[in-house]
Amino acid sequence: MKDNEFRDWSSKAAEWGADYRARLRDLPVRAQTKPGDIAAQLEPSPPEAGQPMEAIFADFERIVVPGMTHWQHPRFFAYFPANAAPASVVAEYLVTAMAAQCMLWQTSPAATEMETRVVDWLRQALGLPNRFTGVIQDSASSATLNAVLVMRERALGWKGNIDGLPGQPKLRIYCSGEVHTSIDRAIWVSGIGQDNLVRIPVQGEKRSMDVGALDAAIRSDRDAGYLPAGIIASVGGTSVGGTDDVAGVVEVARRHGLYVHVDAAWAGSAMICPEFRHLWAGVDGADSVVFNPHKWLGAQFDCSVQFIANPGELVRTLAIQPEFLKTHGADGIINYSEWSVPLGRRFRALKLWFLLRAYGLEHLRGMIRNHVAWSRKVASRLAAEPGFEIVTPPMLSLFSFRHLPAAGSDSDAHNYELVRRINDDGRIYLTQTRVDGKVAIRFQAGQFDMREEDADTAFEVIRGIAAELSG
Ligand code: PLP
Repeated sequence: MKDNEFRDWSSKAAEWGADYRARLRDLPVRAQTKPGDIAAQLEPSPPEAGQPMEAIFADFERIVVPGMTHWQHPRFFAYFPANAAPASVVAEYLVTAMAAQCMLWQTSPAATEMETRVVDWLRQALGLPNRFTGVIQDSASSATLNAVLVMRERALGWKGNIDGLPGQPKLRIYCSGEVHTSIDRAIWVSGIGQDNLVRIPVQGEKRSMDVGALDAAIRSDRDAGYLPAGIIASVGGTSVGGTDDVAGVVEVARRHGLYVHVDAAWAGSAMICPEFRHLWAGVDGADSVVFNPHKWLGAQFDCSVQFIANPGELVRTLAIQPEFLKTHGADGIINYSEWSVPLGRRFRALKLWFLLRAYGLEHLRGMIRNHVAWSRKVASRLAAEPGFEIVTPPMLSLFSFRHLPAAGSDSDAHNYELVRRINDDGRIYLTQTRVDGKVAIRFQAGQFDMREEDADTAFEVIRGIAAELSG
């Protein structure tokens, strides 16, 4: 690209983005391509000579866009949302243009100081006490890994990083079976080992871990010579929204001197609405909490906020200061790279600052309340429809259901086929999960631009395609 073309192509990209958002409703939500379709259109070797931007841009529209699943589509009801509200996209254009590395205060003072401020805005917005400070991580997986590393180091008297794990007592971490797989990964990566992640049985409609069983497991592990290190509580588990009794978990942890990390990656955004905060009652006593503004709130991926009661412990676990990273003569500053595993950091605070200022908390609360109400409406319409069963009731805006197959047919195969047909149809996008071993279909409402009519369309599509499937 010639230097003088940068302005033009930047404007074209922004124009394209606005047009793309405007026509999203007319596109199939999930990509309708087959495996290999896109790869077959990409040159096998890199070009030796530069090519005109016109050609590259035309290929982007011709090859790439049809191979995209549209995560910003208002009828995206799969997984969890990854909302990128327009104001946060604008902020990301600016971040991309400046392309700063924000690892140390001095490498981008504005990024550091804004990060401290917007994380505290979010703390206030979520109703968390000021014993929490925080940091923006790339993902909840990273935040949870950090929490597990602190659990490990705290339990081992800060010797794990130095001596390694062989020869140390075997650590134990506790959680329910409803947690996201990022918890499993954190346990592997931290060297604690999958067998030392103890799954506590869940109970009740909220699928919360049985705190009595948690207490008993910790005691029996201690008696058997293990070293319990921490507990990971789930608020809004990925599969069907499993939510622990955080107050009960914190009480057990206090009794045993254990660290508590709360994973509210998805559901945390809903805590800007005071009426939903009962779902994480007791969170004030946790050691760390993660939530992803890049899911429901509208901050473009990646943007995961980790609130921490004692950041000194995290810094003690992760910080390393070779001479080339020392910031001499700058007292009272924060170098956020000491709060995370990667050294390099993007300027993630700017999109939060734009998002919160452009929409305001009141608008964001309204959006979340609508999603919860519309999801409940779809659930109650499906519940009233012959041939459907609600498997797990709405937890905020997430519920799961099944369509009942003809007598003698396999329910799992039937519901897989229903999801496949719905997604091939393209008007909505859904994904499946397993509840107590049986396939169920997840429905979550959460798109930034979703309207009530999109929920109505979802109901009609599900009902219509299920009827066709049953003949
Ligand atoms: N925790 C929960 C409850 C999630 O649903 C997810 C992702 O969907 C994660 C953690 C992992 O999030 P991330 O992709 O930010 O690592």
